[in-house]
Amino acid sequence: MGLLDKHIGTSNILVTSFDNLLNWARLSSLWQMQFGLACCAIEMMATAASHYDFDRFGVIPRATPRQSDVMIVAGTVTLKMATRIKRLYDQMAEPRYVISMGSCATCGGPYWEHGYHVLKGVDRVIPVDVYVPGCPPRPEALMEGLIKLQEKIRMESFINKRSNSPVVTENIVI
Ligand code: SF4
Repeated sequence: MGLLDKHIGTSNILVTSFDNLLNWARLSSLWQMQFGLACCAIEMMATAASHYDFDRFGVIPRATPRQSDVMIVAGTVTLKMATRIKRLYDQMAEPRYVISMGSCATCGGPYWEHGYHVLKGVDRVIPVDVYVPGCPPRPEALMEGLIKLQEKIRMESFINKRSNSPVVTENIVI
């Protein structure tokens, strides 16, 4: 888990830093703001179902932004929906994270040229931590995106502000 820094003797005493403890707790219980917008949402739902079992990563779906740590934007972001996404993101407490799932959420996907009603990337309205490419990405790709986010959280510091540099996962083809 990366939490253990030092194990003293044969006793049950662990020594670690406050950052490590806090990050371990955060990355192990990323409650998810559900945001399925189009076909990518089907793969997101499949990731949460029993075969892939997203819950084992501590990713529990929540129906309110006020209880959520991570927003997974899965699908086509229309201009009308973009304002709602921004409003819901603003209602999430810090620290909050965003995964952009699929081509539509990342850059407009098949609608990037002629989709007059489609936002060409959700990062135009909210900051994105991890981009998961694909049309749609498979559940394995979304899980890889989540692991990348966990790696990013593991490096955060309570004192120093977290890095906002986004991560792009590789496109997994199986
Ligand atoms: S990226 Fe592809 S699968 Fe995902 S919402 Fe857009 S068109 Fe649908």
